[in-house]
Amino acid sequence: MYAFDFTRPASVADAVAALKGDADAKPLAGGMTLIPTLKQRLAQPTALIDLGALPDLKGIRREGDTLIIGAMTRHADVAASDVVKAALPALAALADGIGDAQVRHRGTLGGSIVNHDPAADYPSAVLGLGATVVTDRRQIAADDFFTGLFATALDEGEIVTEVRFPLPKRAAYVKFPNPASRYAVVGVFVAETAGGVRVAVTGAGPGVFRATNFEAALNGSLTAAALNGVTWPADDLNSDIHASAEYRAHLIGVLAKRAVAALG
Ligand SMILES: Cc1cc2nc3c(=O)[nH]c(=O)nc-3n(C[C@H](O)[C@H](O)[C@H](O)COP(=O)(O)OP(=O)(O)OC[C@H]3O[C@@H](n4cnc5c(N)ncnc54)[C@H](O)[C@@H]3O)c2cc1C
Repeated sequence: MYAFDFTRPASVADAVAALKGDADAKPLAGGMTLIPTLKQRLAQPTALIDLGALPDLKGIRREGDTLIIGAMTRHADVAASDVVKAALPALAALADGIGDAQVRHRGTLGGSIVNHDPAADYPSAVLGLGATVVTDRRQIAADDFFTGLFATALDEGEIVTEVRFPLPKRAAYVKFPNPASRYAVVGVFVAETAGGVRVAVTGAGPGVFRATNFEAALNGSLTAAALNGVTWPADDLNSDIHASAEYRAHLIGVLAKRAVAALG
């Protein structure tokens, strides 16, 4: 690891000011990705701005038909939350299926979606539910937030403060996990929302994406049978030591059917 400065601001404004004053500074959440990245010398920030002491970024609350989760909320807290379990059980189950106990007790919602690992679980819920990502300066619709491999619409020094999830009528997430890390080889999030059915796929491509042809079929009939014969092309999917693009394409179809069946 290289030497770097470390600060623990007491307010979001102070954190934003610290990031603004140093283009090479980085926010630190649970460090689950950032610290290994530093250890491997893949990043060399001049300063880490620890978001861990900002109460505004933590917590879970429901306001009407919206579930609001602070960016620094740990996966374990989402998984254990009675509010989440009652309002959006698919999200509690998704959080409970992330990594192992250590990762769930350090990793955060904000760190997960900002990192936008192509195999991460949370991006599929954010996109599948049509959530809104709130930052220190604006609100970004999920459809505009994830822009590519490990990339988002965030500007330099912009901090995610919370994610607002509109409550769906029904939702389910099913993944085929890597047996070692639990990252999604493929994961499919299906939600019946006020605006129609949304299907978000993670693990399969360079970033999370909506399977629009699956959505069209399910908007005709929200049954697993409606997906018979509906496929996603392997052309732009990932091929690696874990699975070929063709296998991932096959998994999208299988897991989407399982998610629809799990809607209950
Ligand atoms: C062994 C292992 C297994 C894992 N398995 C899974 C899995 O099964 N499924 C899954 O989805 N994930 C998995 N993860 C990822 C993990 O759950 C974390 O979500 C991810 O590593 C990000 O960690 P973090 O929240 O600690 O953020 P950090 O590592 O602290 O930060 C990640 C990035 O986000 C930036 N950042 C963090 N918070 C903010 C914010 N509020 N605003 C702006 N920028 C911010 C940081 O600057 C950094 O660039 C795994 C990780 C490990 C190490």
